[in-house]
This record gives sequence, C-alpha cells and structure tokens, in this order.
Amino acid sequence: MSNSHVTGKHVVIAGGGGFIGGHLVAECRKLGAASIRSVDVKPLEEWYQVFDDVDNQVLDLQYFENCGKACDGMDTVFQLAADMGGMGFIENNKALCMLSVLTNTHMLMAARDAKVGMFFYSSSACVYNADKQVDENVVALKESDAYPAMPEDGYGWEKLFSERMCRHFTEDFGMDTRVARFHNVYGPDGTWDGGREKAPAAMCRKVIHAKETSDHSMEIWGDGKQTRSFMYIDDCIKGILMMIENDIPEPINLGSNELVTINELVDIVETIAEIQLDRTYKLDAPKGVNGRNSDNDLIEQYLGWSPSTALKDGMAKTYAWIHEQYKRRESGENVAQ
Ligand code: NAD
Repeated sequence: MSNSHVTGKHVVIAGGGGFIGGHLVAECRKLGAASIRSVDVKPLEEWYQVFDDVDNQVLDLQYFENCGKACDGMDTVFQLAADMGGMGFIENNKALCMLSVLTNTHMLMAARDAKVGMFFYSSSACVYNADKQVDENVVALKESDAYPAMPEDGYGWEKLFSERMCRHFTEDFGMDTRVARFHNVYGPDGTWDGGREKAPAAMCRKVIHAKETSDHSMEIWGDGKQTRSFMYIDDCIKGILMMIENDIPEPINLGSNELVTINELVDIVETIAEIQLDRTYKLDAPKGVNGRNSDNDLIEQYLGWSPSTALKDGMAKTYAWIHEQYKRRESGENVAQ
C-alpha cells in the first residue's frame, strides 16, 4: 500500500490530537511517511492517539508563526484543526467556530510559503443551503446545492469561506488543494462526552449509562424524526487518501448515503446493547436541519468509490469502544473524552 503524497513524504496533520486527525496520523504511519508532524492546541494527555515515533507538537494554529513551524519542511498538509463539535456546540458557539478562519487562513499562507505539494482541507456538509434541508424526506445534497449561499450560521459560513480560499490559493498561487465536505463522521477514538460529541457517540454513551445505572430513560434532542447519514471513520480516512491521489478541482461530498432518522439510530444502538429505553424528546434542544443526506454521484465519478460501511457495523465498533472508555472512567482512570 502506498500513496504518492504520503509514502516517503514529510506530512503534517493539523488537528492530529482530534478524532479524524488521530486516525489520519495512524494511517500515514502505516503508509510509510518519511516523517509525520502532528499538531494540536490541546495538551498531549487529551489527544485520542499519540505515537512516540511522531513529532507531536502542542501549538495554537490560530497564530501564523505557529503555522510556519507546523508547515516548515513539509510536503503534504492535512488541515483538520478547527473549533467544532456537535449541534449543541456549534449552535451556541458561533463566534468561536468562525475564529477557525484564522487557522485556515494562516495554514494556507504557511503551506504556500513552505511550497508544499498538497494541501487537504476538511470542510463540512454544514456549508449547504439551509433551505434545501427543511424536509425530513430530504433529497440528497449535491455539491452545487451550496450556492446560493445560506449555510449553517457561524460554523458553516466559516467552512464555505475557507473552501473558497483554497480554490483561490490554487488559482492564484498554483498550490494543489483538495476539499472534502464531510458528512457526520463517527467511530472509536473520538469525542464521546463533554458537550462537543455528536449524535452517534452521544447515543452510545446514553444507552451505556442507562444500562450501567438501571435508569432506563433516554433523552433525545428534537422529535427524533430528523434524518441524517453517518460515515464510519475508516471510510473517511480512505476517502481523504484517495482524494489526494486524484485530480479533483472542486469540493466534493465525503459521506455515507445510508439515510436514517435519529429514532432509527437509537434503534440500532438499542439492538447492539440488547436493551429498550423509555424515550423522551427535548423539543427545544439544538437539533440542526430537519434532513440531510450525501449525494455521492460526484465522488463516484471521480473515484469510482464511495463510503459503504453499514451503519449497524460501524456503530457496533463505536459502541464497544465507548463502553470500554466509560468503564475505564468509572474505575477512576483519566481518559480522553
Ligand atoms: P476534533 O474536534 O476531534 O478535532 C479537531 C482538532 O483540532 C481538536 O483536537 C482541536 O483541539 C484541534 N484544534 C482546534 N483549534 C485548534 C488550533 N487553534 N490550533 C491547533 N489545533 C486546534 O474534530 P474532528 O471530528 O476530528 O474534525 C476534524 C475536522 O473535520 C474539523 O475541521 C471539522 O470541522 C471537520 N468535520 C468533521 C465532521 C465530523 O463529523 N467529525 C463533519 C464535518 C467536518
């Protein structure tokens, strides 16, 4: 297995202490990168995956000087660092989300100065026009649905602006960039508690908690009828690495198109846990758009591939991992969450 932008190359992963970044670091090690620099603002003990043979750097990438340190001497940049979380976080922290524009701008400038060969940027399905996502029986979002622009307030605007910056860094400075619009990524070694977690991890944790404490009630945000698709982390990493190997001159969806309601997601977790809970619906909680799915025609066209891990299989692995973390925390261990 090799990848022309990773194997034998000097690679930096910004946001490497986070969920997707951590998995990317692990995969770049397997692919035989000449060196890997993993950079994150969090203290090292809060990183999900730490490897001794990686140059792990705790730096705040909102500052240009630190982006210079991150990109210096590197061939390939994966820019995943962002202040983000699930709906509960992004609906209540719009300014913080928008400040990631500093990180994206400064990383692009530093990567250009370092003359890197590839810059990958992680955008989001939150760039899509909200008017296209009002119905639960959603028509899957095509890449062109991002315009005319009316993205998720705060977080989505910042992502759309940064996508655009990547395009102009390519046009004006000749820097090779790739932009993926991730749709809800889930899996082990990611946020599962503390307010930034997303629905799949939150559901697993709530069900585990109910099972462990015999409190069989479960609160669901919204009416449970909102629809989403969820991409397993292995598909996300595979997609990123395929994207940098192919010429893709525009942002593309990287997401699953297996659409489920939030109630169906809970059904899956209950089946895994072999339990049934009493559901209550918190209708005033942040719940995001009513329906969202990924249209995968374009990624199929470019790569002849799209994410395919079945939700029930990915959730079984995620549940097992969160269960282990929960038990370790209960026994007094300090675990990244
Ligand atoms: P994450 O929060 O686990 O990882 C992001 C990491 O960036 C964190 O570890 C955080 O500490 C770090 N970071 C934040 N600000 C920083 C700064 N100023 N300097 C250095 N590091 C900083 O999130 P993730 O799920 O791994 O997401 C990675 C990327 O993918 C993000 O850009 C996110 O917006 C995007 N994305 C994720 C999803 C998803 O479902 N997980 C969906 C769409 C887009």
